[in-house]
Amino acid sequence: MYSFNLRFPNGKSRAMTFSYDDGIPADLRLVELLNKYGVKCTFNINTAFYDNGKEPDNRLKKSQIKEIAENPLCEIACHGHTHPYYNALPMATVTNDIIVNRKNSEAITDKIVRGFAYPYGPFNETSEAALKAANIVYARTTKSTKAFDLPENWLQWHPTCHHRDCLELFDEFILSDNKKWHAPKLMYVWGHTYEFDNNNNWELIEELLEKATKEEDIWFATNMEIVEYVEAFKELVFSADGNTIYNPTRFDFWALCNANWQPGSGRIIKIPAGEVTRV
Ligand SMILES: [Zn+2]
Repeated sequence: MYSFNLRFPNGKSRAMTFSYDDGIPADLRLVELLNKYGVKCTFNINTAFYDNGKEPDNRLKKSQIKEIAENPLCEIACHGHTHPYYNALPMATVTNDIIVNRKNSEAITDKIVRGFAYPYGPFNETSEAALKAANIVYARTTKSTKAFDLPENWLQWHPTCHHRDCLELFDEFILSDNKKWHAPKLMYVWGHTYEFDNNNNWELIEELLEKATKEEDIWFATNMEIVEYVEAFKELVFSADGNTIYNPTRFDFWALCNANWQPGSGRIIKIPAGEVTRV
């Protein structure tokens, strides 16, 4: 085998994911748009607002969070119990904030919650170690890359852009030619839904969703679905020549595979769960 590159489910070369912070009522309007277009999104919540049985008006109700968690298009992830600046805090305090946030999120959703977005965005070695201790598997920053690569470190998952830049970058995302030889592409958009209310620009996200769902070569996934697919793909077992592949996982995988070094001879192959595939 000459080259082998991950492709997303059904052989798609591109994926899109969304991440919205703070668990506010305007999230429900975004969920309506997700339902309309069949696009997936991760919502990151703070849980201290619900301490002592409180349910403040400027946050989602617990019942609404549970409803979002049960929507197959949505994932609930953590965003810090009290939304503190982690960089200024000691390890024990950060670790406690994350674990309390996880436990409360899991109690509200009745699901296992292992995703995270850094409150305000900053991160350092202490917060990364604390996330590992809490068995969080990915954490989104606010550092826009304006690029379409999968992250090297899931605990420093830099998004492509804030939604204010999404239309311009989406055109670039689609035009960038990766079909034959290169790695898969990911466009990761983040923001706060209250910004659409404040800037009176809900049409921005709707235009993006409308354009994106017209493209056939995009897999729409929650943050966690991307992590699980990409990590499980690393478990593929190859023969020495690379031409026999055993998939020990529960996922069907797709890959762009070039069996010899002739340019242009690459093709998309499916590698079914639990089976041996020969290329
Ligand atoms: Zn926030």
